[in-house]
Amino acid sequence: MTPLLEMRGVGFAYAGREVLRDVNFSLQEGSCTALIGSNGVGKTTLLRLATGSLSPASGEVLLDGLGLRRMARREIARSLALVPQRLEVPFRFTVQQIVEQGRTPYLGRLRGMLVDDRIAVERAMDLARVTSLRTRIFNELSGGERQRVKIALGLAQQPRILLLDEPTQNLDIGRQVELVDLLHLLKAQGITIFASIHDLHLVPGNFEKVLLLGPGQSIVEGTAEDVMTNECLEWAFDCPPGRYVGMRPA
Ligand code: ADP
Repeated sequence: MTPLLEMRGVGFAYAGREVLRDVNFSLQEGSCTALIGSNGVGKTTLLRLATGSLSPASGEVLLDGLGLRRMARREIARSLALVPQRLEVPFRFTVQQIVEQGRTPYLGRLRGMLVDDRIAVERAMDLARVTSLRTRIFNELSGGERQRVKIALGLAQQPRILLLDEPTQNLDIGRQVELVDLLHLLKAQGITIFASIHDLHLVPGNFEKVLLLGPGQSIVEGTAEDVMTNECLEWAFDCPPGRYVGMRPA
């Protein structure tokens, strides 16, 4: 089966400083994958390469078998949405106004919001459980509420795959669990999930596959059980031997 998202031999450098080298992996439609790795290893960069907002220096990124290089931005945005770590909103936009921005890939110069667009926005707000916040000012929301609004914005694009950049960062444990439950709900709706996850305790049981970006641009791929061994995590996160075990939740 053609993977929904695939990287083949992808390499990337910022101003000559190599961050990713020969990255190969594929995600099947309907799968739920966690991307883990230490700070600065290249997770955000990898997600941005997957959206086409960065172009690989070598190799290629394929969306449903088509090279991103050959696709228009609007076409990509109708299949794939990225929920960024931060969303800078300079004005007093309401939640509904923010979520409506997700329809941009469907609107034309002569085509404003139609019934289908309104339905998609309502559905996105409903799925992400932000309907009751629709008239609230985005910049006045709590971290957990903002995270759900950003997800609603992504969902308004009606993507087949949702990429999330550290969606549980800075959330309390209750909001983290809510967020993970939301990812389960989206997966049940048939949306493929690919999320970088900082809070490792959330990975086992919630993500069926793990992609670990390790030192030296190496990648380890497998189930949480396969990948998240003490030895592998100590190596990947440069954690002194034996110390991680004690920090691990039972
Ligand atoms: P992660 O998401 O795993 O923390 P990033 O992908 O954000 O890692 O960053 C990978 C490396 O690339 C880091 O060393 C970071 O400092 C560097 N980097 C990220 N963005 C830029 C940029 N716009 N320009 C130059 N270097 C960058």
